[in-house]
Amino acid sequence: MPILEVKNLVTRFYTIEGVVHALNGVSFDLEEGEILGIVGESGSGKSVAMMSLLNLLPMPPARIERGKALFYENGGQDSVDLLTLTKAERRRVRGGKIGYIFQDALSALNPVMTVGRQIGESLMEHLGLSGEDAKHRAVELLEHVGIPGAEKRYYNYPHQFSGGMRQRVMIAIAIACDPKIVIADEPTTALDVTVQAQIVELIKRLQEELRLAVIWITHDLGVVAGIADRVLVMYAGYPVEISLVDDLYNNPVHPYTKGLLGALPGIGGKRAGRLESIEGAPPDLLAKPKHCQFVWRCPYAFDRCRNEMPELVEIAPKHYTKCFL
Ligand code: SF4
Repeated sequence: MPILEVKNLVTRFYTIEGVVHALNGVSFDLEEGEILGIVGESGSGKSVAMMSLLNLLPMPPARIERGKALFYENGGQDSVDLLTLTKAERRRVRGGKIGYIFQDALSALNPVMTVGRQIGESLMEHLGLSGEDAKHRAVELLEHVGIPGAEKRYYNYPHQFSGGMRQRVMIAIAIACDPKIVIADEPTTALDVTVQAQIVELIKRLQEELRLAVIWITHDLGVVAGIADRVLVMYAGYPVEISLVDDLYNNPVHPYTKGLLGALPGIGGKRAGRLESIEGAPPDLLAKPKHCQFVWRCPYAFDRCRNEMPELVEIAPKHYTKCFL
């Protein structure tokens, strides 16, 4: 049962240099209780897609040109288009139904409010709790995400927490109102590897306990291999491959996905020798896309790729790719 269906999402930025074609028709769905990994290099459109859904982009210069983002409620009986919500409806959904974990907790949290109040604010706004009940629940949430001494830590400010602990606070805010979807936007990028592993474990545990659907944005294919059910690979504002996670790692089809997997280091001598790299650079997003966006870096490119844009097609059950091959 899908909880979110995104159809043909197109977002552009109108800048002094010209029009940046950031998203060029992104379509995907998210099922209840699944983890969808979205991978791709910087500038591929991963975060812009998620921020478009929740109206978090600065407009202008951003503009959502077209698309639909259907969010299903009550077991699929009701749906709302996230892109056409009124301000009041958006407040109900954002934070209440869809939680967002930002990459950099230090800049996402308010530096002059205690973390307890920041969690409580969301509970009072969305669930209508009184100040005392919100405080009680905020302490419970801090305990739930593994903050020791939660009663005392409730009164601390973000700068009094370590990076990993701040990210736990962000997670507490994201799950506070019992959302259906949590968007985790590179939640471990700024952390060292041992803390990264703890945060990955925490989100995975909460996802199972709360039956959350999670969209996990990352450039780290190793992380999604361990936690995702399905993976969407983005390149230059397009989804270029969508597949079940095992299928993607065992049978990658798109040349870009193959390149990303070839660049992954292995452990235990499985991948001895030089790592592969993807030659060249991503295309200039100021140019209107007219052909396969990967053409200048693709080792298999042929004439048709330079003149036409391939469609995203299903080549096996639940396995889609955007390539003429
Ligand atoms: Fe390569 Fe052509 Fe496929 Fe694009 S359509 S990925 S250039 S083979």
